[in-house]
Formats: sequence, structure tokens, C-alpha cells
Amino acid sequence: MSAFTSHMDRALVQARAAADRGEVPVGAVLIDAAGRIVSEDGNRTREMRDPTAHAEILAIRAACAAAGSERLPGHVLWVTLEPCPMCAAAISAARIATLYYGASDPRMGGVTHGARVFDHPQCHHRPEIYDGIGGQASRELLQSFFAGKR
Ligand SMILES: [Zn+2]
Repeated sequence: MSAFTSHMDRALVQARAAADRGEVPVGAVLIDAAGRIVSEDGNRTREMRDPTAHAEILAIRAACAAAGSERLPGHVLWVTLEPCPMCAAAISAARIATLYYGASDPRMGGVTHGARVFDHPQCHHRPEIYDGIGGQASRELLQSFFAGKR
């Protein structure tokens, strides 16, 4: 068993970079089964004019392209915010092994809120889930972003 390494700081760097681009500050980092960083990105929905360009989706797409597979067994996803239902479904479809997320999202989240995608009987793959890591930093980033918008 190798030493536990948190990649949440790196995900937060992606979230801050997203905020600097005028995007909702959410960042994601994907780690493969060997512990290597295979992809990382932040929200780009405005830049790409694509409502599916969430940090998690972009990271999953890049990792799948690198792996040459639509599945990412043994991979670990770090996200600064509770994934929405769309991203949760993609995480399940990609067979990602473990999900770490920072802040919970009562408004848009789909893990412990709303659709609760992984708890649904139709969900065929549920990752191990750990929340709250770096949650405070993530929340502050989101709050200052939306405060600046008002
Ligand atoms: Zn999402």
C-alpha cells in the first residue's frame, strides 16, 4: 500500500484557473491505477460554449483518450465540488474506482443531493466516495466568485 497522496490542492489550482477565465470555479484531477496524474482541467462551459464542458467531463474525456478506452478502472477522480448528475453518471459509466470531492453542492449536486445518481437502482457502478477534503477552500472560491458576479 503506497502512502496516501491528496490531489485536492491540484484540483483547487484548476478551479482557480477556471475562475480566472470567468468560469464557475470547479477543478478536477484524474489519477490512474499506478498513481500517475493522467488528466486535469477546470470548467470550460463558457469558453467552449458547451454545457457539458464540466471539469469532470473534460478530465474523463482526456483520460479515456490517453487510455484508449471508454473505461477507467482503478482510476481516482478528485473534484473540488460535489459532481452534478451528468458528471456522476459519467463517473459511473467510466467505472472510476474512487471519487474524492471537496464542497457539497445542495443546489446542483447529484451525489448526496437531488438525483443521488450512485444510490439509484439503475446505477451499475458506484465508486468509493469520500467528501469534504478541501471543502472549505472550494466553498470560499465559489462564494467569492459568485459574490464578484453580483
Ligand atoms: Zn457536472
